[in-house]
Amino acid sequence: MRDILVAGNWKMNGNSAANAELVAGIIAGVPQGSGFSLLVCPPYPYLAAVVAQTEGSAVSVGSQNVSEHEKGAFTGEVAPGMLRDLGCTYAIVGHSERRAIYGETSAQVAAKFQAAQAAGITPILCVGETLEEREAGTTESVVDEQLDAVLDVAGIDALATAVIAYEPVWAIGTGMTASPEQAQDVHRHIRGRLEALNANIAAGVQILYGGSMKGENAAGLLAKPDIDGGLIGGASLKAEDFLAIAAAAAQN
Ligand code: PEP
Repeated sequence: MRDILVAGNWKMNGNSAANAELVAGIIAGVPQGSGFSLLVCPPYPYLAAVVAQTEGSAVSVGSQNVSEHEKGAFTGEVAPGMLRDLGCTYAIVGHSERRAIYGETSAQVAAKFQAAQAAGITPILCVGETLEEREAGTTESVVDEQLDAVLDVAGIDALATAVIAYEPVWAIGTGMTASPEQAQDVHRHIRGRLEALNANIAAGVQILYGGSMKGENAAGLLAKPDIDGGLIGGASLKAEDFLAIAAAAAQN
């Protein structure tokens, strides 16, 4: 069975004092049990402090983005090796906000995915459709294009050390959650596409759901066979909200 990963994407929120309180609250409340893990993804400037604070705890630390370049003249960018050096073990790549606001293409996301892996970081590849795309019936083809961009350059074997996050754009930060059935359908589609390439890898890859996941809806989503955790925005900013999702994971 796949473990559940509960990952918090703090986005551009927090400060030193608030982060320290949030992390202390999470560490103090990690549910008993096994079969799940917790991850927080703070903004870049706070990564080192959060890595230090979580040392020896059950909480891992990841970044929200990563450069596709190893080093050099890329002002304002952060290299995957730097993140690894700081103690990050995961990096989110291709979040819909990066794609929509900063124009990241699927090819660039694929390059970031590969660069992260080359530095020993597990990429969390975000895929998902907009409301217009869902209403036009193109959810699967949109997700396929985003997934295939990575598979084409990195190959199916690369998915053995990666996580996928299905995040319908219309559900992110809107309070609208995909129903467990809607999410499961897309998760099954994604796993099916990987199965056609390598059944073992498809069976092992964690596919997270993201989009207004919270304590009240987490258990229903996590009960679905192809949903292996959550990538959580809003509800990752308060320890009790994040821990409510962790508790659902621990009971799954
Ligand atoms: C996200 O940004 O990845 C996300 C899922 O946000 P929220 O939980 O706030 O919808």
